[in-house]
Amino acid sequence: MAGLLPLIVLPSCARAQDGREAARRGMVGNIRQLLAAGAAGEVRSLDARVLDALQAVPRHEFVPTELQDVAYGDHALPIGHEATISQPLVVAVMTQLARPRPDDVVLEVGTGSGYQAAVLAKLVRQVYSIELVEALARSAAERLARLGYANVEVRAGDGYQGWAERAPFDAIVVTAGAPKIPPALVAQLKPGGRMVIPVGPRREQQLTVVEKDAAGAVRQRRIMPVLFVPLRPGS
Ligand code: SAH
Repeated sequence: MAGLLPLIVLPSCARAQDGREAARRGMVGNIRQLLAAGAAGEVRSLDARVLDALQAVPRHEFVPTELQDVAYGDHALPIGHEATISQPLVVAVMTQLARPRPDDVVLEVGTGSGYQAAVLAKLVRQVYSIELVEALARSAAERLARLGYANVEVRAGDGYQGWAERAPFDAIVVTAGAPKIPPALVAQLKPGGRMVIPVGPRREQQLTVVEKDAAGAVRQRRIMPVLFVPLRPGS
């Protein structure tokens, strides 16, 4: 009697293999340890979806070629035009604090390399991202398209004013340091929405969460000291 042929079930791994999976696992493991040790105040761990997004996004594609081998260390790196790609720990914490849900529409201010936008794109329906420096906006938009992030729209402009045509947003992530919380961004948050933003003078910035409740009342709380390039005024 012929035996049944065993079925070989392949893992449903749609992720492209790029040879950097181990480096990314190391990055994610390091972030988890830092959080558990209290490096980010109240944020002691990450949701599984956020961990998966960090494991999936090829961070080395978002840094200059000569820095690709150090892309998974826990540091910010220069990307030209006085901008930096943020430290992985800080990207992780900001993403977690934005509480991304699959149907959300999110605004990012300060596209830079596009890395934070790519992480968010894995977690929400649509990401809109504004970058002041036109050359950075263009290269980030090209990079995100090439890597297949179809749900990110990038535009060059002054993010201090938000993106009124696409508002309101479930969450707003600002990746440059603002002296004060920009009123236009608060106005463009949905009731129930949250904004994650570094606030304060350079060297005294505090990562801050601004939440708008169902009635429209706004509350803020500080999470941890951070160091971001300044949110520059548009011309
Ligand atoms: N999120 C980026 C890192 C951003 S660095 C990443 O994942 O790579 C901060 C960025 O904010 C810089 O690219 C800077 O040019 C941009 N920026 C500064 N002021 C801005 C403004 N008013 N509006 C939009 N972008 C601004």
